[in-house]
Amino acid sequence: EEETSPTKKLVSDHGEKVASHYNTLQEVGLVVRSQSRIFYMRNFNNWLKSVLIGEILDRVQRAGSRNVSVLDLGCGKGGDLLKWRRGGISHIVCADIAEVSVDQCRTRYEEMKRKSHSNEKIFSAQFIASDCSKEVLSERLDDPELKFDICSCQFVYHYSFESEQKADMMLRNACERLKPGGFFIGTTPDAYELVKRLEASDSLSFGNEVFTVSFESKGSYPLFGCQYHFSLEGVVDVPEFLVYFPLFEHMAKRYNMHLVLKQRFSEFFEEKVKKESHRSLMMKMMALEPFPCDDGGQQATDNKEQYCHAKEH
Ligand code: SAM
Repeated sequence: EEETSPTKKLVSDHGEKVASHYNTLQEVGLVVRSQSRIFYMRNFNNWLKSVLIGEILDRVQRAGSRNVSVLDLGCGKGGDLLKWRRGGISHIVCADIAEVSVDQCRTRYEEMKRKSHSNEKIFSAQFIASDCSKEVLSERLDDPELKFDICSCQFVYHYSFESEQKADMMLRNACERLKPGGFFIGTTPDAYELVKRLEASDSLSFGNEVFTVSFESKGSYPLFGCQYHFSLEGVVDVPEFLVYFPLFEHMAKRYNMHLVLKQRFSEFFEEKVKKESHRSLMMKMMALEPFPCDDGGQQATDNKEQYCHAKEH
């Protein structure tokens, strides 16, 4: 069975580690994760993604796009589905290397649809299990003519910087189906900060009681394949790669992309929190208490977002 599975065929070496890591994440215990100290950090990340997604949708819609189509590249379990729903998109393609996550994403979408009011038109969706750093995604689209207004790649792109070929394929998948004027938005670790902290450390790792980042060597950092190991209270523990941003920006020019904005989380936070609606969303999300659920708090955040959404209307 394994041999005939299209995803299994595509996934190998590093990809296999990433897929199996995320595929087994769901087994991490209910209560354990909901009580985790990283609960609030996850809420912060969700706030950041909500603001980013909300603002980019605003921009796209103000530019005249009516039926907004989105590609969620590395969608995971679909943690951003509610954000897209809130933004009133028309269609989404969710792709991820981890089949189990893609299944969970689909289930979440179907639940969302089932529970929605009859007067709300929920966006249509396609779910694809694929190693997006190896496979041309457009060949798997149900609608071969589909073009996207936005590609969102949240906390994913760094996995592809293992080699130029993989980083380029990921970029190709992100950009080649964008409409003219479309956006590629994403979040990825800051390579400068990682190297700065490593260089300041007297060992090959740094971190605190919550996270650890370890490298195999220091002093020289290849442009591709510069691997480090990131572990966050046992929740994420999979090899990642430094993304040298100027190179990434240069590579994106191949797909007619130019940089609109690049900010560190702290800069983004300081700027966005000045706006009342963003600040109140932050307060609501941070006021959440962890409660036992099977997704390490994601559901709590989603419910809260839904709550905020309901209040806003
Ligand atoms: N974007 C989601 C979010 O913000 O909640 C999930 C982020 S999670 C940190 C990283 C995701 O990237 C995982 O779901 C993983 O399976 C996916 N991923 C890593 N490498 C990938 C690849 N080559 N192709 C597709 N997905 C990949």
